[in-house]
Amino acid sequence: MASLDTSKRIVIKIGSALLVDTVTGELRLDWLKGLAQDVDALKKAGKDVLLVSSGSIALGRRVLDLPEGLLTLEQSQAAAAVGQIRLARAYEQVLTPLNIKTAQILLTLEDSTDRRRYLNSRATMTTLMGFDVVPIINENDTVATDEIRFGDNDRLAAQVAAMAGADVLILLSDVDGLYTGNPRVDADAIHIALIDKITPEIEAMAGGVGSATSKGGMKTKVIAAKTAMQAGCAMAIMLGDVDRPITALMNGARCSWFQAEGDPQAARKLWISALKPKGTLIVDKGAADALRRGKSLLPAGVTNAKGGFMRGDIVSICDTEGTELAKGLVNYDADEVAAISGHKTAKIKEILGYPGRASLVHRDNMVV
Ligand code: GLU
Repeated sequence: MASLDTSKRIVIKIGSALLVDTVTGELRLDWLKGLAQDVDALKKAGKDVLLVSSGSIALGRRVLDLPEGLLTLEQSQAAAAVGQIRLARAYEQVLTPLNIKTAQILLTLEDSTDRRRYLNSRATMTTLMGFDVVPIINENDTVATDEIRFGDNDRLAAQVAAMAGADVLILLSDVDGLYTGNPRVDADAIHIALIDKITPEIEAMAGGVGSATSKGGMKTKVIAAKTAMQAGCAMAIMLGDVDRPITALMNGARCSWFQAEGDPQAARKLWISALKPKGTLIVDKGAADALRRGKSLLPAGVTNAKGGFMRGDIVSICDTEGTELAKGLVNYDADEVAAISGHKTAKIKEILGYPGRASLVHRDNMVV
């Protein structure tokens, strides 16, 4: 069973309705300060925290005096551009006094579907974690058009959890979990505390509810759960509108937990194993030994490269006899690999004319 105590990396999704007062359109600063205390407590317990926050459109529409009701795509993009500055500033305002460094990441759907962009986003997140930063993530609503949108931050949060290798995702919502029916209209609806598999019955229970301020209903949450579970990440849906929600969760607040399938590392390795290699890297004995010891593959150890692969593709890594030693996501295009093979990492910039990543295949992106 997933537990906050043992988790190492947590993604928390904050919906617009929690951050922005639905009547006045004002930022709910007191609530946000409570959340910041919770983030501080998680950080002090040694956990990495990433926040996926909505609210840009809700904040921006008020500044622009836009009418109630549905906005046109252009209007919501303008509102998002105006509101996102305020949103990021609000998080900075509550986290900086606690000595927590923040960063803003705006993602589009392509950042998770295009493998090159996926790798970049993932690498940036990993680097930020290394600097002990809490990223504040939202969809890049200003440039995403309808066809290429996540559209709701539930699914975005699940993609972020998968990308960052998180083991727990918490959706702070306006309901305390999944029910057998819609609890707002059905008095007999029963709360489900633990879901270990998304069955058609579970999907049917989720229906399609949503409110005026929040895009996602239970349906998008169940889709999010599927993504998270497959990525080895447990997911909780809980009521966000309480003082210090994460503390409440730790103290046993009612929620629904969706159980992870294995752990994030295992899920990632499974995903890599299932992909078909687009090329082969032949490595010398020194590199082969290093791979077996769990090290990344550096350009110096590569003697030959075959195939027209591109950065982000899967390559097979073989010894000089042709025996496959590992498979992994390659950090350079085939022509770049040909140029830097056999050279020290320090030479990459001189040879390619720009600084690249230190490894050809990073150990986190490799199955040995
Ligand atoms: N990205 C949108 C925003 O920040 C919200 C999407 C959602 O509510 O799920 O306003």
